[in-house]
Amino acid sequence: MVSMVLPMIRGNSSSRSCGDCTACCTLLGIQEIKKPAGLRCRYLKLLSKDGVGGCTIYKDRPSACADFQCLWLRGFGLRRHRPDRSGIMFTAGHSACPIPELQPQQSPQAPLMLAWECGADSRKSPLGGQVIRIMMDEMGFAVIVKKHEGGFSILSHSESALKKAHRVGLTVSEISGIPK
Ligand code: SF4
Ligand code: SF4
Repeated sequence: MVSMVLPMIRGNSSSRSCGDCTACCTLLGIQEIKKPAGLRCRYLKLLSKDGVGGCTIYKDRPSACADFQCLWLRGFGLRRHRPDRSGIMFTAGHSACPIPELQPQQSPQAPLMLAWECGADSRKSPLGGQVIRIMMDEMGFAVIVKKHEGGFSILSHSESALKKAHRVGLTVSEISGIPK
């Protein structure tokens, strides 16, 4: 799914690593360990001041965790847009997406990117808004925001994407509310 979209994503993933970021360990739902989406994983030990912490079952972590790479890790955005800093984690579609017909494999011309908010209104923060703007304004993708407080909204310059979103009752967010 991601492979056809990634060539369009700028950046170089070879020098990137998660570092202190553990955003996906809270945002994603992981079936294999019955972890609900949006709750911090019970196996995640927060980093102490001396840098000790992280996944306490790292060697035996589920394949869903081992295989997961957000788009930042794959090279999208600038270094300062790492999800724990920008408050936005991007995936190229996801089973959590509320508009299946806009998933990349269904609609390669106008695929959506799913922006997962790490905190309340992260999309409106300076770095969160900036990375969403890059995805929307420079890359031309529709962006579905999975809001921290629950629910989804869509940001897009594409009329067809907005029509599809409207059909499934998705809230259309004002682009003017997203900082550049
Ligand atoms: S959200 Fe991305 S950068 Fe952060 S830990 Fe997960 S894969 Fe790594
Ligand atoms: S099992 Fe480990 S890698 Fe997977 S979500 Fe939990 S802390 Fe993160």
